[in-house]
Amino acid sequence: MKIGVLALQGAFIEHEKKLEKLNVEYVELRNKEDLKIEIDGLIIPGGESTVISKLLKEFDMYDTIYGRIKNGLFVFGTCAGLILLAKEIIGKDNHNMGLMDIVVKRNAYGRQLGSFITKEKFNNKMIDMVFIRGPYIDNVGKDVSILSLVDNKIVAAREKNMLVTSFHPELTDELEVHKYFIEMIGEKNDKSGN
Ligand code: GLN
Repeated sequence: MKIGVLALQGAFIEHEKKLEKLNVEYVELRNKEDLKIEIDGLIIPGGESTVISKLLKEFDMYDTIYGRIKNGLFVFGTCAGLILLAKEIIGKDNHNMGLMDIVVKRNAYGRQLGSFITKEKFNNKMIDMVFIRGPYIDNVGKDVSILSLVDNKIVAAREKNMLVTSFHPELTDELEVHKYFIEMIGEKNDKSGN
């Protein structure tokens, strides 16, 4: 299995460290040429969604990535990555790909409370969660499973091949969320093996 880590901006190195801990091979995706490499999953890191979206377009990577995810490529979006995948962003924003049936509020925790650490359940397991000017999910479509709630706000969810978190599992010692993503990819491989 090989994971592509989108490495244009943001916290991609921290994701790579997690993959190393899990003994999963990865490749950094920095330009259109890199998209020719065969991958089983993609991580879109946290950072600034407007910047990542702009760079994707500038480097002519946007359409290819959009098409691959639409065709079922497994993707894990953290924070800015969550925003990029969303169908709708509350307020003015046109930097999202519109792939996942979630309505998202950006910078949802305001400036003062923009960053905080808490402990909550992800898929029924307690884990540490770091939020950095993160979004939350205001609403989900019928095919979306909710994986985490913090103060009654949705902060992790899955729809088919797409996994998103408002928080940054790459910045804590937890491996739970990355393991979950790797297992999602494994499910597909199990099915195609039948
Ligand atoms: N506020 C950022 C955005 O809107 C997301 C923050 C993050 O990824 N840590 O893109």
